[in-house]
Amino acid sequence: PKTEPKLAPVAPTTTSKGGQWAATPFEIDRRRNFAIISHPDAGKTTLTEKLLLYGGAIQEAGAVRSRSDQRKATSDWMELEKQRGISITSTVLSFEYDGNHINLLDTPGHQDFSEDTYRTLAAADNAVMLVDAAKGLEPQTRKLFEVCKLRELPIFTFVNKLDRPSLSPFELLDQIEREFGMKMAPVLWPIGDGEEFKGVLDRDTKTVHLFERAGRTKKATDMPELDLHDPKLPELITEELHEQLLEDVEMLDELVEPLDMERVLTGEQSPMFFGSAMTNFGVELFLKRFLTIGQKPSSRRMGNADVILPGYNEFTGFVFKLQANLDPRHRDRLAYVRVVSGRYEKGMKVQHSRMKGKQVTLAHAQQLFAQERETVLAAYPGDVIGINNPGHFAIGDTIFTGSNKIRFPGIPSFSPECFAYMRNPNPSKYKNYRKGLDQLLDEGAVQMLRERSDDGNGNPILAAVGTLQFDVVQHRMKAEYGVDTILEPLSGYNTARWAEGGWESIDEATKAGKLFGVFTAQDRFGRPVLLFRNEWKLANVQGDLPQLELIPWSRPP
Ligand code: GDP
Repeated sequence: PKTEPKLAPVAPTTTSKGGQWAATPFEIDRRRNFAIISHPDAGKTTLTEKLLLYGGAIQEAGAVRSRSDQRKATSDWMELEKQRGISITSTVLSFEYDGNHINLLDTPGHQDFSEDTYRTLAAADNAVMLVDAAKGLEPQTRKLFEVCKLRELPIFTFVNKLDRPSLSPFELLDQIEREFGMKMAPVLWPIGDGEEFKGVLDRDTKTVHLFERAGRTKKATDMPELDLHDPKLPELITEELHEQLLEDVEMLDELVEPLDMERVLTGEQSPMFFGSAMTNFGVELFLKRFLTIGQKPSSRRMGNADVILPGYNEFTGFVFKLQANLDPRHRDRLAYVRVVSGRYEKGMKVQHSRMKGKQVTLAHAQQLFAQERETVLAAYPGDVIGINNPGHFAIGDTIFTGSNKIRFPGIPSFSPECFAYMRNPNPSKYKNYRKGLDQLLDEGAVQMLRERSDDGNGNPILAAVGTLQFDVVQHRMKAEYGVDTILEPLSGYNTARWAEGGWESIDEATKAGKLFGVFTAQDRFGRPVLLFRNEWKLANVQGDLPQLELIPWSRPP
């Protein structure tokens, strides 16, 4: 439950205070931001592409893919993307539609990069859960759903690929409700599937939108639509499907909850849509509805009970992602900041939550409009800006203007599942090795643990959600810092837990012989981390030592 703000929002006019300007309600209200969560192959790239097409941000489908081609050309390590045919970067895409300003937080699809996705979700106000109609829920969707739940994000469900043979819509609805304990509120309902896919019914207006295979690149603007009770309908969609549709409608009206915005905003209910991203069907219907019911730029809680509303008249924001060397010619480093309140202006001076009294000038913020990086002159709550990072910024940092000290809670790191010792085989390159490693750790590309030692200088252990992250680190260390690295897998361990009780609790448990076969490491801040060989061993230790509080992510210090 969100508590009442102690910092009052400003009156609904543009206000100037200390030279900074508040965001106008107009700019806040027209903004929507969301991230798409899905399992690889569900159609995220395709859906993104179609959405950008509607926003007029790109001229033709295929441009989203070529965006990463462009990147590959400029950045060496993106070679990896090409080799593996996956997308491993994430950015923010902005476009205008119908008077709205939409920010799509693009998350990497490959499961090894879910750590990055987790962080991106910290900047999102809404999540769109993309589900393959033939497959239903898949592992990656489940994992990401958990993060959305933790963050209390409203979730919009888009069931994709109805043009292919699909599970029954009731089956899909049931599965999600059962597994996620979240009620589905179908907004669109499909008529048939695969070869027999005839369109969708908008339950609200009782309008049937007929399906036309529009082709991959065309915009389907003139979709025929007619009333559910139009006498021509049975002929158009076949008697059989018409009867089925009427039956479905009756069943839905009886069985599912009506759409309740309050419950959507708390994540208890999810508006459900059906369509086919590839053939561009149902995408615009979804977008239009999302713009009316999606959550506007939301307020953010600070560590204490205070809440910063988007209308708060000073600028506040937090860093959720760092990226270095996108363009090797410039050695640029970007910190992505989610604007929470106020208005960003080019050249503005801000304070930094970790550097008392020091002001930082935000000279060149960048935003990604479709493929183009552009310099941003102004940004508002709900926006994401990429600011130049000469090394000041770390993930979770807050920046703000005004005399109230603002600090948003940090972003937790999620539990790594792969571990490897890392060594520098070439002592003469130590400086570069250190620099590269620090940089990549700052970016959160991987986490680093160490073997336990009193001086904190135990052997370093890289920890990641997936082994692909190790490949990226090695590749980037070589390409960007010119150093070779040797990795030796710490095989057998796949589960990490942070011990909240500190070292005392660990020592006690060790003396009692309860941590046999468990690897003891420490994180960057010297806090104990236990590595387990499997869930069973973890459960065992937990059962033996109920007083030992083990948590799967590291709290920000
Ligand atoms: P991502 O991994 O989630 O980004 O998935 P992509 O967008 O790359 O799509 C994976 C594959 O599914 C591609 O071959 C797409 O052409 C295909 N695809 C995506 N959406 C649809 C759809 O609505 N219908 C059909 N038949 N195929 C689709």
